[in-house]
Amino acid sequence: MKIKDLPKTKQLTKTCVCCGKKIKILVYKNKTYRGGHYFGKIPLHKEKDINIAIKNTRKIKIGSIVVDVLKKDPNPYGYAEYWECPECY
Ligand SMILES: [Zn+2]
Repeated sequence: MKIKDLPKTKQLTKTCVCCGKKIKILVYKNKTYRGGHYFGKIPLHKEKDINIAIKNTRKIKIGSIVVDVLKKDPNPYGYAEYWECPECY
């Protein structure tokens, strides 16, 4: 069976997070898609919440370096889909 013979449910337009290019995603009835690469959802944070969170850190040592670790992650206000186009993948 050829790809074009598969029943197509919908066509989505997504934005590549790497280059910002619009990518066309074809979604088929068997839940497969082509045209881009989907990596799941990423949390979105308000700048205000990040600024609060980064003031509240503790130092931990990893090997010979000391890094700041957030005591508490900022609460996300939503989630965005993470897509990459075939060139960036
Ligand atoms: Zn891209």
